[in-house]
Amino acid sequence: MKYIDEYRDRELVSRLVSEIQKVSRKDIALMEVCGGHTMAIQKFGIPFLLPPTIHLLSGPGCPVCVSSRKYIDQAIAYSRLDDVIITTFGDLIRVPGSTSSFEKEIAAGADVRIVFSILDALKIATENPENRVVFLGIGFETTAPGSAAGVLNAAKQGLTNFFLFSSHKIMQPAMEALIDEGVKIDGYIAPGHVSTITGTGIYKDIPAKFGLGCVITGFEPVDLLHSILMLTRQVEDNKPEVAIQYKRAVKPEGNLKAKKMLDEVFDLRDDWWRGLGILKKSGLVLREKYSRFDAEKMIDVEVEETREDKGCICGEILKGLKKPGDCKLFAKACTPSDPFGACMVSNEGACHAYYKYNRDG
Ligand code: SF4
Repeated sequence: MKYIDEYRDRELVSRLVSEIQKVSRKDIALMEVCGGHTMAIQKFGIPFLLPPTIHLLSGPGCPVCVSSRKYIDQAIAYSRLDDVIITTFGDLIRVPGSTSSFEKEIAAGADVRIVFSILDALKIATENPENRVVFLGIGFETTAPGSAAGVLNAAKQGLTNFFLFSSHKIMQPAMEALIDEGVKIDGYIAPGHVSTITGTGIYKDIPAKFGLGCVITGFEPVDLLHSILMLTRQVEDNKPEVAIQYKRAVKPEGNLKAKKMLDEVFDLRDDWWRGLGILKKSGLVLREKYSRFDAEKMIDVEVEETREDKGCICGEILKGLKKPGDCKLFAKACTPSDPFGACMVSNEGACHAYYKYNRDG
């Protein structure tokens, strides 16, 4: 199959649903850890097609949602410096910090520009030599290679006014932390985009160490149901393994060039995840040889004390322990047009996805 329509084929969907119903006996919980999957699962109504034995959980797959409020506060503090231009993807503009957001700072005169790639940020730095240009690097192994390429380009161009503020994270420590914490998960619907870069290597220990499988999955209804069938079979047969359903995009070895670039530019550091706290070696920081581009090291700024909002249960939702409908603020005080927490802001956040496609869920 080569085209999207084939992955939305009604007959194929019906056959997969029947097969899942036939195979499923045990009560199982399958978790996705990719914001794209969170959105696709709700958009295509996948939970409504499954037997009551199969429960789908959303995990920490939305980059904006897992990032700390301290990161947003520090980025906002940079934006208040007279000579700083902030460059960012659009998702971050409305994320609430402790007392402000970029939306409010823009209204107050801050120079915050939405870009489509880090290369746009480099161009802005070249065109504005009097300014310091900070790019907000957020996301997992999917977006981190872009940031690495940007830093390598900045080095090649000899830029002295470009800085990366990294909140990049890697997925595997979070997947293991959830199991360590005792969240009931019987299999991972493993992320499609992250895996195009990493390949299968990052999941290899999970079946042996924790006894659960990981199936790397695409984003269409047939992909999702096929993957759920593969995972259900693994659980029923008690044969957990790492498998690729999304073969049209993911190779076992991943993208070697991107992995090499990540390794060249970034080192691992302990990092904070919403809901999970500090996870060892789960974040990416620029290596010493590129520290001249590291906003944290090169730009002094005072950051306000972080305040978390009371009432938001994003942390529990990101661990799969609660659903958006369990939050008292969901679809009342917290909506996409007036978000209270990060999971409602990003398109990939569970609260946003449920609000859009499954408000009673
Ligand atoms: S509905 Fe809003 S306040 Fe509630 S958990 Fe989601 S983002 Fe947080």
